Amino acid sequence: MSALLDEQRGLLEQLVNPQRVKRAGRTFWCGQWAGQNVVLVLTKVGKVAAATTTTVLVEAFGVKSVLFTGVAGGVGTGVKVGDVVVADAFIQHDLNSAPLFPRYEIPLYGRSTFDCDPSLSAVLLEAARTGLAGVGEHFHRSLLLEAPVIHRGLIASGDQFVCDPSAAALMRADLQAAGHEPLAVEMEGAAVAQVCHDFGVPFAAMRTISDRADAQAHLDFSDFVNQVASPYALAVVGQFIRLRPQK
Ligand code: SAH
Repeated sequence: MSALLDEQRGLLEQLVNPQRVKRAGRTFWCGQWAGQNVVLVLTKVGKVAAATTTTVLVEAFGVKSVLFTGVAGGVGTGVKVGDVVVADAFIQHDLNSAPLFPRYEIPLYGRSTFDCDPSLSAVLLEAARTGLAGVGEHFHRSLLLEAPVIHRGLIASGDQFVCDPSAAALMRADLQAAGHEPLAVEMEGAAVAQVCHDFGVPFAAMRTISDRADAQAHLDFSDFVNQVASPYALAVVGQFIRLRPQK
């Protein structure tokens, strides 16, 4: 799954025997990729939209694992535009039920973060390393980016497009004060992680850094997604499907 059409560009062409199914205002594409059954879908933007999409994916399509690819703002030190973050875990940076519950804790869950599946994430990390080895070089040179670094760590999600350096710095400082070190910010991942946790479905996610969550964040957003993030997703997902143990 991805949030936006541009993020998933190119993936649909890989499906053999694509079948379109409409549910809950979303279009689910079912087919085969490298001999495995796959469903491609767009979550739409934001946590609620992502939760709905994930619930339908699990309940109506019976998926055995979930992979998210998309873009995010870089907030960690050294996490620059064109880099990739493979998520270890997700947190909702805009969740605050204090003083009833500690800040960031999800009420009645007794926790603030949801971990990604370790073995699926290890496969994704390997897929990112091998998949981007050649393709990354081509794209970073043509766009004058530096070679992509693949990071691994916490991603923060919330219902805001963060495009203000002081808002980004405050969000990061507040998370750090509670013991969380976010590498990137986006708008869906924590919701997908929570739904996958609820259903016991393994989940892994990668985000290509499209911006630094500052005043430049809206500039050339769709150019970046089309020219860098979607070719990266295509390269990594292709590798991921080949590397993933068959069920
Ligand atoms: N310009 C887009 C809007 C996309 S919203 C449009 O017109 O459709 C931004 C999307 O990219 C979200 O899905 C979010 O997950 C991700 N994202 C990228 N950079 C982000 C940032 N700095 N803050 C929050 N979300 C970001």
